[in-house]
Formats: sequence, structure tokens, C-alpha cells
Amino acid sequence: MERIEIETRQSTELIDITGKVKEIVKSKSGDVDSGICVVFTKHTTSGIIINENETGLKSDILALLNELIPKGKGYLHDRIDDNAHSHLRSVVLGSSVTIPIEKGGLALGTWQSIFFVECDGPRRRDVYVKVIEG
Ligand code: ZN
Repeated sequence: MERIEIETRQSTELIDITGKVKEIVKSKSGDVDSGICVVFTKHTTSGIIINENETGLKSDILALLNELIPKGKGYLHDRIDDNAHSHLRSVVLGSSVTIPIEKGGLALGTWQSIFFVECDGPRRRDVYVKVIEG
């Protein structure tokens, strides 16, 4: 399993990690021509998603998270550490994505990028990448 270290700068932020995931898959391509790649965050206040890397859309996604799950809405978890909205956004986003590998590379669609979504930054984060042959 490989690890990608990320330093986030905002409380909520989309970070494109496609290039780093591609590098990892490429480094294994001698071993894995066909298979799957799992990208996973170990944190309960972040997410992993696949979508288009377009400036307006990235702002729209952050606005949607704010609208769906606003901060400080009387959540019970806020009694402990005041970041219930961050956990709830993580629940909606999901903690991992799986991408097929074909011909030694990620079989992403033309407009698909892999994003780490920070929901409780800024922090130092670890994303794990597992490449499986099959
Ligand atoms: Zn918490």
C-alpha cells in the first residue's frame, strides 16, 4: 500500500490527487497490467470523490456541502469537538473510490479527476492507494 501526504490549507477544500495516484499506478505497471486501484482516506472528516476539475464546479461542490450540511446546526457531536458538520460531509462524500486499471494505467473518463475533499482543515492528511492485480 502506498501513501500520499497532503497538507490542506482551507477548512473545506478540494485537492486534485489524480497525478499522484497515476504516478503510483505507473510505478506498479510492470507488475499490474490490469486490475483495480483503491484510493482511501483514513480520516473521518474528509472524503474521496471523482469528478471534473473545473473551477466553477469545484466552487459549486463546496457550496452544495455548505448548503446541505451547514456548520453548527445543533448537531449532538458538536458537544464533543464542534465538528459534526465535517463528519457528516464525510458521510455524504464517502471514504474511498475504486478505479479500473487497463494497460497499466487508470481507466478514468476524459473529464474524471480524483479529489481528496478536506472537510475539517487545515490539517496534514494521509491518503492510501492500493493497487490490486486482476
Ligand atoms: Zn469530531
